[in-house]
Amino acid sequence: MSYRSMKQLPIAGKRLLMRVDFNVPLDSEGFVVDTTRIEAALPSIRYVLEQGGSLILMSHLGRPKAEVDPKLSLAPVAKLLSHLLEREVEMARDCVGEAVQKRAHALQPGEVLLLENLRFHRAETHPEEAPEFAKELANLADLYVNDAFGTAHRKHSSNYTICSYFEGRAAVGLLLEKELRLLGEALSHPKRPFVAILGGAKVASKIGVIKSLLKRVDHLLIGGGMAYTFLHAQGIEIGNSLLDPDLVGLASELLKTFGEKIILPLDCMAAKECSEQAQAELFSFKEGISPEYQALDLGPKTQARFQEVLSTAKTVLWNGPLGVYEFENYAKGTENLAQYVSRLDATSIVGGGDLITAIHQVTLSRPFTLVSTGGGAMLEFIQENGNLPALSELKERSSNSL
Ligand code: AMP
Repeated sequence: MSYRSMKQLPIAGKRLLMRVDFNVPLDSEGFVVDTTRIEAALPSIRYVLEQGGSLILMSHLGRPKAEVDPKLSLAPVAKLLSHLLEREVEMARDCVGEAVQKRAHALQPGEVLLLENLRFHRAETHPEEAPEFAKELANLADLYVNDAFGTAHRKHSSNYTICSYFEGRAAVGLLLEKELRLLGEALSHPKRPFVAILGGAKVASKIGVIKSLLKRVDHLLIGGGMAYTFLHAQGIEIGNSLLDPDLVGLASELLKTFGEKIILPLDCMAAKECSEQAQAELFSFKEGISPEYQALDLGPKTQARFQEVLSTAKTVLWNGPLGVYEFENYAKGTENLAQYVSRLDATSIVGGGDLITAIHQVTLSRPFTLVSTGGGAMLEFIQENGNLPALSELKERSSNSL
């Protein structure tokens, strides 16, 4: 069963409620620092307006403690969105309640209302405690679209419970559709060679993904802090680098079973402490790292080896930075590889908040095929073979005809 696209909804003259992912970073003055997610939602938003519908947008922002937190208001997003759309985006004072209901019902075609942060209400993340919250949201509109990949691995009121109120009137947005299609294709019938790259700090959070990927890919390049548990499992001296002692046994087993597919770092830039000022030194893993040093980025031999493996790739899937990219000294491995992958004649899918931030530090010669807006959702999608909790319900409700 596949999802209904929003293009199959009769939008003209209707009020459409869209779950978007406007969970964007704000600076201390409340300005949006990274507009990627807002810009990614524009195609679906513009489509509704072109079709003559009115639009009610809803999202969460940050992690408020289930109460109003003015610092996490979506008002700055409404301002920015008004600018991008060149039309007024009205900011609602709440996401439910009589006033919002009244305003939503009075919307005219072409008008846009942004609801206030859904997570000011505990019911958003705990739908089982207050199912009427989803019903109240649903009462605002005639049609429902989910365009928020970033939260699709969570069963919340606005993306899961709400679907039951839109039987035959629910669909996926254009962004979500694209993310599902490209990720789904990469997992089910990738153009080969299929190379995955995994980085980031914690092996524990990605072990399920590693197992799933190893069954599908031709090569898995492992970088970032998680690589050192694998190197340690091979008996290599990793000094003071990140290590998950509980996973050494499993890493060893994976290396035994899938050894030929797994490509690990050959060298690294390491320092005595994880700081911008610390003097970076090059170590080869042939000799190992001195005990007081920790590996913080890929070395030149590793970069060359990773590029060699990637050179013939037709599909590249990448999650997680390959070094402590937050410090200029240790961002090179991630940045150089990003530049290299973007130039390949391949489908390139990158995801994860940290990796996207790292990539924004580079001027790429070509864009990636997909910069996925959801990090956790992308990992769960890979691990669960394309099944994301919120989307099961959306599939169900969008299958019946109107
Ligand atoms: P994750 O949330 O697991 O994707 O991890 C992202 C974090 O991994 C970033 O903050 C990076 O600084 C960090 N990271 C990447 N490589 C290393 C490394 N070699 N040592 C320590 N932290 C790292």
